[in-house]
Amino acid sequence: MNFIIGVVDYFRLVIHRSFYSEKRIKRCQTKQLKKIYNYAIKNSPFYQELYKDKSFNTIDDFHKLPIINKKIMMDNFTSLNTCGLIKEEVMDYAVDKENNKDFLGYYKGEYVIGLSSGTSGNKGIYITPKEMTKRLPSVFLARSGLSIGMLPYKILFVLRVFSQGFEDINSKLVDLHYCSTMEKIDLIVDKINSLNINILMAPPSLIRELLPYSDQIKSKIKKIVTYAEVLEDVDKERFEKEFKTEVIEIYQASEGQMASACKYGHLHINEELVYVELYDEDGNLIEEEDVVGHKMIITNLINYAQPLIRYEMNDMIVLDKECPCGSKYRRIKKVLGRHDDLIYFLDQSKKKKYIFPDLFVRWIIVCSENIREFQVIQDKVNQVNIYIDTIKKDDIQLLNIIELKIKKELAEFEIMSPVINIEFKKIAIPKEKNKYKRFINNS
Ligand SMILES: [Zn+2]
Repeated sequence: MNFIIGVVDYFRLVIHRSFYSEKRIKRCQTKQLKKIYNYAIKNSPFYQELYKDKSFNTIDDFHKLPIINKKIMMDNFTSLNTCGLIKEEVMDYAVDKENNKDFLGYYKGEYVIGLSSGTSGNKGIYITPKEMTKRLPSVFLARSGLSIGMLPYKILFVLRVFSQGFEDINSKLVDLHYCSTMEKIDLIVDKINSLNINILMAPPSLIRELLPYSDQIKSKIKKIVTYAEVLEDVDKERFEKEFKTEVIEIYQASEGQMASACKYGHLHINEELVYVELYDEDGNLIEEEDVVGHKMIITNLINYAQPLIRYEMNDMIVLDKECPCGSKYRRIKKVLGRHDDLIYFLDQSKKKKYIFPDLFVRWIIVCSENIREFQVIQDKVNQVNIYIDTIKKDDIQLLNIIELKIKKELAEFEIMSPVINIEFKKIAIPKEKNKYKRFINNS
C-alpha cells in the first residue's frame, strides 16, 4: 500500500470516528450521498433510468428513492456498474477463479472481483477497484480494534476464500498468512504455533472447531477477530475464556464494510463508508436504541465502480445507547442474523410467532460446555430438527436437557406445544459455502 496515503487514511478514520458530532456526521453523509447519487446518474445507465423523474435535495428525498436488492443488482449488473464490465464475462472469471481456488490477481489488471455464495442462481458479484483495495488495509487497521501496541501483527486469516485485497495488506508491520477453512484443524493449530501467530482472524464456526484444541495452541494469541458470521455473546464469552484473550468482531458484507469494534470492543457503524437506514416492522425509520431493525437499507459511500444505492440487505440489527468511547458513530447492540433465520412457532391461539435466532443459540449453548456446534432446521412451522455436535463423549441426557430448556423458554412466549426433534450428529463446515449456517429455514 502507498504508505503516505495509508497513514493519512488511518488517522482520518480514527479522527472521524472519535471526534465527529452527530450533526457533522449527518452533514458529511448527505454530502457523500449526493456525490455518489450524481456520479451514478452520470455514469450508470441503470441509475439514470431508475432516477429519471426523481430528485434528491434533502435526506427525506433520498429516503424516497427506489430500493434495490441483490436480484435487481445482478439482473442489471452490466448497466449498473460504471466501469463497463459485462456480467457474463465477470461471472465466468469469478467462477473460474473459484473452481481453481486461485484467489489472487486483478480482473483486467484493475479490479478485485468478489463472489458471494448465495443459493444457486443467486450468486452476487462485487467489484472493488484496485485503488480502493490498496486503501482498505488502513480501514482494516484503523477499525479492527487492534492497537498499535500489538505491532508487528502476525495474523492468521482463515476464510474459505482469499483475495488480492488481503494479500496487499502484507507490509513490514503486518505479516498476514492465509489459511482456508477447509484445511484440517490440526494443520491450522500447527500453523498458529509455527508462525507464532498473535492475531487469529476467522469465522466463529471455525473458532468453535478449534475449541477442543485450545490447550494445544502454544502461541500467545493477543486477539481473536471474527467475521462472516454473527458472533453470538455466548460464543464470545466462551472463546474469551477458552483461548484467554479478547474477542472482537468485524461486521462486513460483500456490499460494504458495515461496522467494526472500538477500543471497548463495541461495534460501531462505519458511518463514512456506508450509510445505513433501519426500519421497524411497520416501516418507520429507527433512530433509537433497542428497536429491532426488520429492514436494513444500505448505501455504500465509497464504491463508485459498482454503486449500491438504497440496497436492501437481509440482516437484522439492533442499535445500542451511546458508547463510553465517546464516538457518535451509531453503536450496534446486536447483529441478530438474517431475516431468513427467524424460526416460527404457533402460540396458544394458533397464531404464528417468530423467535430470533440469537435466543435459540443461547438456550442451546447454556445447556452444556460440551456442545461444540449445532444446527437448527425448520421444515414446517412449529417444528424444528436440532443436531448437536459435542466435544467429548455424547451423553444422551444432554438431549433431554436441551429439549426441556427450549420448551420452557418457548412457554414464556406462550408457545406451548412445539415439536422438537433433537439428536447428535457430526457437523462440519460446508465446503461450498463462505458461511456456516446454524439456522436453515425451509418452511
Ligand atoms: Zn465505542
